[in-house]
Amino acid sequence: MKRIFVTGIHQESNSFNSLKSTYEDFIITKGGALRQMPGVKVLIDAGYEVVESIWARAVPGGTLKFDDYMRLVDEMLEPLINDTKGFDGVFLLLHGALDVEYIGSGETYVAARIREYVGPNIPISAALDMHANNMYTLAKACNIMYGYRTAPHIDVVETHIRAAELLIRALKENVLPQTRILRIPYIMPGENFMTASGLGKVVIDMIPTIEEEVGVWCSSYFVGMTWIDCPQNGAAIVVSGLGDMDAGMDKAEEIAQFVWDNREGFKYQGNAVEPLEGIDFVKKHHGDGLIVISDSADNITAGGAGDNAYVLDLFLKNEIKNALFCCIVDPITVKKCETHQVGDVINIEIGAAFDANSTKVTLTGATIKALTLDVTVDKSRSVVLSYKGIDILLFDKRKPVFSEETLNENGLTRHDYNVLVVKQGYLEPEFNEAANHQAMLYTTGNVDQRVERLPFKKLRRPMYPVDDIAKIPLDRLFEKS
Ligand SMILES: [Zn+2]
Repeated sequence: MKRIFVTGIHQESNSFNSLKSTYEDFIITKGGALRQMPGVKVLIDAGYEVVESIWARAVPGGTLKFDDYMRLVDEMLEPLINDTKGFDGVFLLLHGALDVEYIGSGETYVAARIREYVGPNIPISAALDMHANNMYTLAKACNIMYGYRTAPHIDVVETHIRAAELLIRALKENVLPQTRILRIPYIMPGENFMTASGLGKVVIDMIPTIEEEVGVWCSSYFVGMTWIDCPQNGAAIVVSGLGDMDAGMDKAEEIAQFVWDNREGFKYQGNAVEPLEGIDFVKKHHGDGLIVISDSADNITAGGAGDNAYVLDLFLKNEIKNALFCCIVDPITVKKCETHQVGDVINIEIGAAFDANSTKVTLTGATIKALTLDVTVDKSRSVVLSYKGIDILLFDKRKPVFSEETLNENGLTRHDYNVLVVKQGYLEPEFNEAANHQAMLYTTGNVDQRVERLPFKKLRRPMYPVDDIAKIPLDRLFEKS
């Protein structure tokens, strides 16, 4: 029976967030739970002996600390290092935008380590997120790379299954595919590339046509993860298959040219406004169904710190009532509330727990509405404060809120409010559907939508729109491996 080694690590990093990620941020899936994951199950059902290690997954966050990453790598590689029978294939469940202190791409390092153990003649297949920043070195280590084709990501299962099926194909045909990358010198926020409509959909619909070309097994479009300061950041088309796949790469170049020619057309398709315009928007629609406001530059789902009380400050100054902030991450304030009880009236500061550039507000006479302090390890401790007609859900750990279920866990429901303020960019499906009016605010912070405002140092240059278009060599726009 052929043997397949399975492991993975999944976190989207934001290197502009000063709060580094640690081992404790990761939830480990292993054993039966990992074997039940759709891609892994495909391998088992096809009759392969799966030797699984761990799949480590965390909410997007700051750059992962080096020692914590190495501890995860040791756990990931342990069954491989101790193995004596040898493997026929490797299946990796990755993100592609994990940034690790000192070494950069966490996926590339671990894939290279695995390649050393299994040797050059064993196929490695990797499933990736659409917001991966793929290194040439990762493409060298992986025979097959395949990424999501939807944003928001509703095809995770299909992607894992297809990456597994392509590994099976390589094993059955006894061949070693290769992966090539075409890079476009273009970074954009994920918000500008949604796949249900608009230019994002046009591009994604073109990507499968690459697979009609000789030798091409799969093709993927990667938007990139903008908020990582690394050379490999940016849009890319990745193609895996047999032979030189030159015809497929030519087609990829045509699509890349389309992206480049339309670079100014990729825009957030929802309503996006400056913060003060957002206040006018809320006032205008207040009382007409649910309004959902996203504080985009503090977007926890893109690795933001989640600790900025800037929008809360604006709401208070403008006396907006009947709003719920879900959430603001503030372990200091949650800790201070520990000694209190529901109903207590306190004076307290909120905000800037991690990021010195975040806004802090002082509440004089806030009422504690709910306390959830006795929780299991993977849940956040929370406090709900009421102040001048606004409720604020505070967490001690970074955790995005995009469902009524999470609100219910904290004794809240969206039905009690006219306005929800979330730490997101584009809205996840549930709140998107619930909202009668919505606006994304162009706030400033470590998930700034205005990418040209970000303090890049390691990004490869020139890069649009960080650099002036005059500096970009139009006769050799694209890089190809
Ligand atoms: Zn993503």
